[in-house]
Amino acid sequence: MLITDEKGIIQEIIHAKDAGEDIQIFKGLLSPGFINCHCHLELSHMKGLIPERTGLVDFVFNIVTQRHFPEEEILDAIAKAEDEMIHNGIVAVGDICNNTLSIPQKSKQRLAYYNFIEVSGWLPQIAEMRFARSKEIYDAFGRPSTVNGRQSLAPHAPYSVSNELWELIAPFFKNKTTTIHNQETDFEDALFIKGSGDFIRMYEMMNR
Ligand SMILES: [Zn+2]
Repeated sequence: MLITDEKGIIQEIIHAKDAGEDIQIFKGLLSPGFINCHCHLELSHMKGLIPERTGLVDFVFNIVTQRHFPEEEILDAIAKAEDEMIHNGIVAVGDICNNTLSIPQKSKQRLAYYNFIEVSGWLPQIAEMRFARSKEIYDAFGRPSTVNGRQSLAPHAPYSVSNELWELIAPFFKNKTTTIHNQETDFEDALFIKGSGDFIRMYEMMNR
């Protein structure tokens, strides 16, 4: 039998014969809280909207080109996704952020979030502009009244960050946890090893 205090904090484990009266029996198993270490909470409204099994390139392209949703719909999906995580036993989340739309929900502090403010842009000439945009979001997440200031700048992926942009964000890694999308598909392997494959197609699509 597990003894907890009123807050649910575990005090000790004892034999049933020593547990006294007020014993509650639950179905299931006891587990530490789960960590969702890679989430895109602000994209929750897109669940089911993107065709599956088309590969990463078409997936990413679909996401970046489908940007017109009412804010209310986005906020509602964020709240529902958080509910789902809590229901599933998740207690902490590493969340990739490209905007500030998840701040109101996170400010309720129902889950512990670490906010990875995503930075991307492979054209050297847009490095300053992209950095400034992400830094603004980074600062918004850093305000104490919002989400505890657990936030870092996070390069999106090796194929989507120019050297110039990398130099701008690197100083922000100190004493922070960061993340990067890396080699999620065979296409990325093909790009790194042979300089070929679907990513070349993506660069061509994006350049249009
Ligand atoms: Zn991701």
